[in-house]
Order: sequence, then C-alpha cells, then structure tokens
Amino acid sequence: MAGTGGLWALAIIRTMKLLLDDYNRTINYLRISITDRCNLRCRYCMPEEGVELIEHRELLTYEEIRKVIEVFARNGISKIRLTGGEPLVRRDAVDLVRAIAHIEGIHDLSLTTNGVLLQEYAKDLVKAGLRRINISLDTLRPDRFAYITRRDKFKEVWAGIEAALQQRLSPIKINVVAIQGFNGDEIKAFARLSLTHPLHIRFIEFMPIGEGNNGNGEEGIPSSQIIEEIRELGELIPRGPHENDGPAKRFYIKGGKGEIGFISPISSHFCAQCNRLRLTPDGRIRTCLFSDEEIDLKGALRKAGDEATLKQILYQALQSKPEGHHIGDARFKKCQRGMHAIGG
Ligand code: SAM
Repeated sequence: MAGTGGLWALAIIRTMKLLLDDYNRTINYLRISITDRCNLRCRYCMPEEGVELIEHRELLTYEEIRKVIEVFARNGISKIRLTGGEPLVRRDAVDLVRAIAHIEGIHDLSLTTNGVLLQEYAKDLVKAGLRRINISLDTLRPDRFAYITRRDKFKEVWAGIEAALQQRLSPIKINVVAIQGFNGDEIKAFARLSLTHPLHIRFIEFMPIGEGNNGNGEEGIPSSQIIEEIRELGELIPRGPHENDGPAKRFYIKGGKGEIGFISPISSHFCAQCNRLRLTPDGRIRTCLFSDEEIDLKGALRKAGDEATLKQILYQALQSKPEGHHIGDARFKKCQRGMHAIGG
C-alpha cells in the first residue's frame, strides 16, 4: 500500500493534466523572459551598442504574466523559469516571483540570473518563495570577466553566489558556456569548485544564436572534451536522474560537495525529450529556441484575454512545436531574435 508520500504523489498525478504535443512529448515547462534589458554585454550574446530594445508598453505586465501562468497551470504547465535579458533588472521582479509561487499547480519555480544584483535580492527572493537558482558565470578571473561581459562586475557576481549560498537556495547551478579562447583553460577550475562548494556546475555547449550566430569566431567546446579533461581530477560518478534535471547529464567527483552537469544541445541534442515552451518579453510564444515561428499571445490576451482564448493559444503552441532543431543541417536558419530577447 502506498505511504502518505505515495498517496500524495498519486493525488497530484490524478489532478495533473498532461499536455502532449504532436510528437507525444509531455510539455510542462514554460520559460518566461521578463525583459530584454541586461546589465552585462557578454560578447557572444549581445552587442555593446545598437541593441534595439522592446518598448515598455510592448512588455507583458506582471498582471498579464500571472494570468497566463494561471491558465497554463490549469492545463498542465507545472514548471516556470524566469529569465531575460537579466530578470533582476526589471523593477519589482521579486513581486512577480511571489505571485507565481502562490499559483496553484506550479510545483517548480526557478530563475536564471547573471548574479550581478543577486546579493541585493537573494533574501527577498527566498522570502518570496524562490527555492533554487541558476547563475551564469563563464570565468573565475575578474579581468577576464570584464573582457567577456564588457563590465567589471565579477566581485558583485561572486557576492551574489555567496548570498545564494547563505540563503540556502538549493540547488545553486552555475551555468558555464565553454568557448575556445574565452574560458577553455578554466574547465578544471570550475570543476574544482564543485569539490569545495555545494554548487552544481553546468557546462553548456555554445549555440549558434544571438551574437553567437554572427560569425564572430567563437567556437564552442563539446561536452565530450570537457568530460575528458575533468576526468583528470578524479572519477566522475553519475548521479541518478531527478525530476528537475532537464536535459543535463549529472555527475560528481568523489568527496565533492557539489556536482557537475553537462548540457549538450549541439553534440547530442535532446529535442525528443524537450518539454518546453518559451514566452518572450513582448508576449510571443516560441516553441523552439531555434525557430523564429512565434505565436502572438499578447495580442490575443489584450484583445480577448479570456481563459478559453489563452487555452487555445496554448494548444496552438503544442501543435506547432517542431520535432527538433536543424542545427548542423542545410535547413538551419539564423534566428532573427537575439538570445537576450528570447530568454536563455
Ligand atoms: N541574464 C541571465 C543570465 O545571464 O543568466 C539570463 C539570460 S542569459 C541569455 C541566459 C544564458 O544564456 C546565460 O547562461 C548565457 O551564458 C547563455 N547564452 C547566451 N548566448 C548563448 C549561446 N550562444 N550559446 C549558449 N548559451 C548562451
């Protein structure tokens, strides 16, 4: 007989709606970019100047975002990630976190940030209901950080990571995009961080999107090469799958306080397991990071805004989600939107 935990899980499953797309994938995850503004200018992501920003009146309001999540949650979306741009530069982002944390049916809420403002907000974010966080950091060297991001903010980011640790956010994932000539010589240094700190280091393959799509010469390092290098530090012991893993392959080094994960959208794409939809700051649904086909949710929301319309948009998104991306084959087309305006 099922124990209390088992009964509880059964009750959740019974009340859960499953959203299936045309390829039989369960879609339960919505990534919401709440702004295209960012306080860094990472060379592979955003140009220093000339970024055309979305006008404020075109941004979904927090009230609109909440409404969308409420309807989607009633129909099978249970995971939300807030991203950007940099989500913490949008005013009152903590209030949005609080509102989402209270929405029935949302079982997992996370935030991706560059960490610059995290020291300031970590405590309030936790109070508002955030339990875990992803912090992007591509180098452990302050001078190199200033070069890659075009802003001298390493100290602030590190203070943000310490604040996240202090607030016991868990897990704290450190997202590292490994790029030849940028940080290829810091792979072991990042892996060692997982020995000394309870941090989940996640190496993410560089993707042909944003400035990374503009032939600036950056070359991503495949996960297989990173794994080989980290093995020199010790045996990489696999970690069993966890419901919040997403596409990451997870390991730890014996004795380590944290762990190491690999996300390999290029060398071994995970489209067959993709469970995501994305909502852009201006209220358009993207069904694949690499496809410019978008559905105008904001237009529908501002025109009708009733539950049935939003539900219909959700089902339209399911139907138009492509089977996979076409990176590496002749069908691949450069995306019009930069990463900062889609949400990483
Ligand atoms: N500002 C937040 C941050 O820095 O985490 C959220 C937005 S940022 C676009 C999200 C993530 O996308 C960052 O980890 C960034 O390094 C990553 N990213 C941007 N361009 C990328 C690319 N071409 N390939 C892989 N990751 C990329």
